[in-house]
Amino acid sequence: MSRIKAPRIEIHLGKLAHNAKILKTLFGEKGIEVTAVVKGVTADLAIASSLINGGITSLADSKIMNIKKLKEAKLDATLILLRTPALSDIEQVVEYADVSMNTEIEVIRALSAEALRQQKIHSIILMVEMGDLREGILPKHLPAFIRQIQNLKGVQIVGIGTNFACFGGVIPTEQKMRQFSSFVRSIKKQFSLPLVYVSGGNSANYQWLLNTKDVGTVNNIRLGESMLLGRETIHGTPISNLYQDAFRFVAEVIESKRKPSVPIGKTGNNFLGESLSFEDRGTIRRAILGVGRQDVYVPGLTPILPVDILGSSSDHIVLDAKKVPLKPGDEVAFSVNYGALLSAMTSPYVYKKYIYSSSIQRKKLQKTLA
Ligand SMILES: *Cc1c(COP(=O)(O)O)cnc(C)c1O
Repeated sequence: MSRIKAPRIEIHLGKLAHNAKILKTLFGEKGIEVTAVVKGVTADLAIASSLINGGITSLADSKIMNIKKLKEAKLDATLILLRTPALSDIEQVVEYADVSMNTEIEVIRALSAEALRQQKIHSIILMVEMGDLREGILPKHLPAFIRQIQNLKGVQIVGIGTNFACFGGVIPTEQKMRQFSSFVRSIKKQFSLPLVYVSGGNSANYQWLLNTKDVGTVNNIRLGESMLLGRETIHGTPISNLYQDAFRFVAEVIESKRKPSVPIGKTGNNFLGESLSFEDRGTIRRAILGVGRQDVYVPGLTPILPVDILGSSSDHIVLDAKKVPLKPGDEVAFSVNYGALLSAMTSPYVYKKYIYSSSIQRKKLQKTLA
């Protein structure tokens, strides 16, 4: 009997195209263009193409290696490097990214020199710090920063962006977003810049976008998690009309036995140096899955069947099977959060199983990727 490989991540391409289409329409009505962020899925080409089929025209990723992959696939989308380039990546950034997000003048000088060498004009978005304290130029420093760039050939400023809720957990409230917009307005007054991108944030901006009466100067938003998993990211609330189950993780049972629920003997730390304690559930059916923490972020998995995850090691997950009569060869499916998705997509040990909504979609994608 031939089986589908496990562990695997099942990828419903039709659901992803649907999510892209709904978000594009929703924000399009407010004059906001949606950039799809594909770093959570290693810029997988079948996924990227599905999002493009859903109407997306720009794709973003934080890794230049992924941008290169997208460029070489000749997908019909503008490619944006989300993370400020490393000096050691400059040559590839100019070669493969249409746009990069920047915060350091030294890096922009290097991009300028490399662009001249490659006889190109490289487009940049300047990232502004609005309080989340990851990347960004402080607003009060931006005018002087822009003046320094205006003398550089080979680069052009095409946008101003900001980011929220990625490091400090700062929420893009109505007040924060007004501050950002009025700051952008003041920059527009001082400089004549073609701001194709006034990029106001990420999936954490969903509530603001939905509720605000005035999006101000914002005309772009970068969406990863909400498009892939159908949830806003501040509270994890499902977004209506979007699929939350475009991805499913599946693992296989390799052992199933009735055993005690508490380790027998003197105990120390586990392989990650964590000390553990176990609830006494008496004798239970313990099912072991042939997958572990090297392959997937286990805390990000939620079993679809009524079973519990008791713990995991690098290559095993141990379940309390409860009333489910699991036996070797049975499959156990899980929903995934962003961390589990990211890790499973990145692991070479996890098989990627694409599910097409129709044979038309399959043919269309195969043609784009041929
Ligand atoms: C990851 C990232 C995003 C996408 O964030 P989501 O929460 O997945 O929507 C947007 N912008 C930047 C700069 C990022 O690093």
